[in-house]
Amino acid sequence: AKRSGRSTFVWYTSEMDADAQKRKEIEAGLVKALRFGQFELLFQPQYSLTDNQLKGYESLIRWNHPTKGTIPPDVFIPVAEETGLIEQIGDWVLNRACQEAVSWPDQTLRIAVNVSGAQFSAGETQKKVAKALRETGLDPRRLEIEITESLLISDTDAVVETLQQIREMGVAIAMDDFGTGYSSLSYLSRFPFDKIKIDRSFVQNLGEDAGTDAIVTSIIGLGRSLDVLITAEGVETPEQVTLLRAAGCDMVQGYLYGRPGSVEAHEEHRARLGYN
Ligand code: C2E
Ligand code: CA
Ligand code: CA
Ligand code: CA
Repeated sequence: AKRSGRSTFVWYTSEMDADAQKRKEIEAGLVKALRFGQFELLFQPQYSLTDNQLKGYESLIRWNHPTKGTIPPDVFIPVAEETGLIEQIGDWVLNRACQEAVSWPDQTLRIAVNVSGAQFSAGETQKKVAKALRETGLDPRRLEIEITESLLISDTDAVVETLQQIREMGVAIAMDDFGTGYSSLSYLSRFPFDKIKIDRSFVQNLGEDAGTDAIVTSIIGLGRSLDVLITAEGVETPEQVTLLRAAGCDMVQGYLYGRPGSVEAHEEHRARLGYN
């Protein structure tokens, strides 16, 4: 028993070392990625269900590693958050996204940028947003900041104030991954925001179980009564669109409308299909 206990311990330790080792490697890689410009933003279209028009794009970061290929954000954003590198990466994202939107032929399209909780608590978010707007010349009304519910359980007064300041600039706030966090209803009335994004886990089960349908319907109802727009994310099938439309959802985003990619590629695709 002692032997096996010991070997279990040894196994566990080396597993932890491997994890720590991996994190160190990612951290060192991220520093280089910042220095050598290995980050890229991809863009995913967002459509209105009301008039079927393209309204904007969400920016999604990718790390083009010189030997490992493309590394998705789920792998490196958590490490960036732990090490504080998220601050520099976030600054780059904000500037790059605003710069991109300024270059589009259609100057009515909006750009949505993800800002994680760790970035937010690094403070000064409103100053960084203002700086990116000033440096790129983007109209603030074209910018949308996506935050998650986890932000709302921390330091609430400071968060409310920062969100308020960002909105006063004309920038919109969207609540991302809605329904997956802890906070939900009780926090909603306190926090200033303009849009709710229904998490893809709900959207993907639409029409498959009554519970999910009821949750989605009530989130949309909630949006109505709070007077905020509702976006469904992760929309992959026409059946989901039909159900979302019937439930009164305002906007959609997902593989059905386009995977994250370059705006040029999306434009070509739309032109071929004869969309507006
Ligand atoms: P998110 O903000 O919830 O972004 C949506 C994720 O769902 C994206 O994954 C997108 O590629 C994926 N997705 C979109 N439509 C569909 C669909 O129809 N089906 C499926 N299965 N997936 C879909 P991605 O790009 O890997 O990003 C993952 C997460 O990483 C994002 O989740 C966001 O939390 C974070 N992230 C991405 N870019 C940034 C960034 O610039 N800054 C920060 N702080 N976080 C970012
Ligand atoms: Ca998002
Ligand atoms: Ca999301
Ligand atoms: Ca997410």
